[in-house]
Amino acid sequence: MNRTPEAVLTELSAVVRDGRVISAAPTLERFRSDAVPSAADGRPLAAVLARSTEDVRQSLRWAGRHRIAVTTRGAGTGLSGGAAAVDGGLVMCLEEMTGIRIDPSARVATVGAGALNGDVKDAARKHGLHYPPDPASFRTSSIGGNIATNAGGLCCVKYGVTAAYVLGLEVVLADGTVLRLGGRTVKDVAGLPLLPLFVGSEGALGIVTRADLRLVPEPAPSSTVAAVFPTLEAAGAAVVEIGRCLSPSMLELLDQTTINCLEDLRPAGLDRDAGALLIAQVDASGSGRVDECRLLSEICEKNGADEVNSTDDPDEGEMFIEVRRNIGRAYEMRGALIAGDVVVPIDRLPQLLRAVHELDKTVEVEVPVAAHAGDGNVHPTVIYDPARPGAEDAAWRVCDDIMRIAVDLGGTIAGEHGIGRKKRHMLDRQLGGDVMRISQAVKDLFDPEGLLNPGVLV
Ligand SMILES: Cc1cc2nc3c(=O)[nH]c(=O)nc-3n(C[C@H](O)[C@H](O)[C@H](O)COP(=O)(O)OP(=O)(O)OC[C@H]3O[C@@H](n4cnc5c(N)ncnc54)[C@H](O)[C@@H]3O)c2cc1C
Repeated sequence: MNRTPEAVLTELSAVVRDGRVISAAPTLERFRSDAVPSAADGRPLAAVLARSTEDVRQSLRWAGRHRIAVTTRGAGTGLSGGAAAVDGGLVMCLEEMTGIRIDPSARVATVGAGALNGDVKDAARKHGLHYPPDPASFRTSSIGGNIATNAGGLCCVKYGVTAAYVLGLEVVLADGTVLRLGGRTVKDVAGLPLLPLFVGSEGALGIVTRADLRLVPEPAPSSTVAAVFPTLEAAGAAVVEIGRCLSPSMLELLDQTTINCLEDLRPAGLDRDAGALLIAQVDASGSGRVDECRLLSEICEKNGADEVNSTDDPDEGEMFIEVRRNIGRAYEMRGALIAGDVVVPIDRLPQLLRAVHELDKTVEVEVPVAAHAGDGNVHPTVIYDPARPGAEDAAWRVCDDIMRIAVDLGGTIAGEHGIGRKKRHMLDRQLGGDVMRISQAVKDLFDPEGLLNPGVLV
């Protein structure tokens, strides 16, 4: 029996008990895109603002009955189009599932998928504990989104990415089955390791509704080193050597264009003529921090740094980090963005930086570079004028070239932002046919009708 869209929506409203259903077109606008809107983003039929696992379960069963595609959405800060809506689909939004419970003795945070990373950090800090994964978007991105993209960030060079902190997950599958995987134990090898499949699966296998996250004692205060280099490659060489000799808690690299974008946004006294700026932190306890700081500065000088400054004052250090966190806004002032997210084995970092820099000289778009350099994770952002005909396509060609360079250097096209819909066309090139075929088989097992985030990943 064919039912009218109104009847289908009435049925949805009846099954969503705790949350809300939104179907008015103007209100739906904010659910169409993630942080990098594109003309290809769809117009959904409705969005559900879930407030319980049961809301998610019933909505998925409703979507299955009517064969309606579902896009899962956390906070919508993604950079690869994974949370972009599908025409006529449902947006399943977790932003109101924000509960946070800290168990200080077990060192576990049990959180709703919509809780913001920064709120989990704040809640843990009240108990002298710390949740390390820290994407630059930590104040605005959700734990569900962080898990779905296996988010990294600034401190991951020492503390690891999101996957290292996920102990347990509650996941709703496409048919409404609720899986509980792992739990609050730090070790668990019972059964096939299904939990890691969902970390980084970008909403294509199931919807995360709750997570148990591992907390650690708060680290010691950090010392910060800022080193100015004449060239990107010299800074890259310093990064390789630093990684061989010590374990910094942050190692961020900015190129000259990025420095200038930041100065245009808000003058912070950065050297506009510098080839690159390296911002590093060390947080060893006691005198170890002084030794690490000295060694790090020496390595920078040995690799040609023109100027090296360091501070033990956490507030002064935080000023540098705050500048780093503003990069997204600084780039946005110059045009529309495509965020690159390539990673190479750390010894190839100087080669990657050189190749991207050379490319920048030959193309019409701007390609500033910022990097979680200690991880070999480089974000060349392609900035283009969206009003210029053909500019978006040209920008994508540049982004594709950068991904090819990374793969040719033995690296990957995505380190922490996911593949989403926007980088899907390059995935086969990196993974090859066999891996793509097995990935599709896994997708078919969890979501046989292909309703969850269609077009994402597989
Ligand atoms: C200024 C800025 C800086 C950033 N810096 C970093 C950084 O340093 N490191 C980094 O890793 N990322 C960074 N990002 C990217 C982004 O913040 C991360 O990808 C983040 O993890 C996305 O979280 P979200 O809640 O916004 O997810 P969304 O954008 O809503 O969704 C992202 C993906 O996760 C899926 N998803 C969301 N919630 C769930 C769920 N509950 N269950 C299943 N699937 C789900 C979506 O379907 C989509 O595929 C940055 C973004 C911005 C705008």
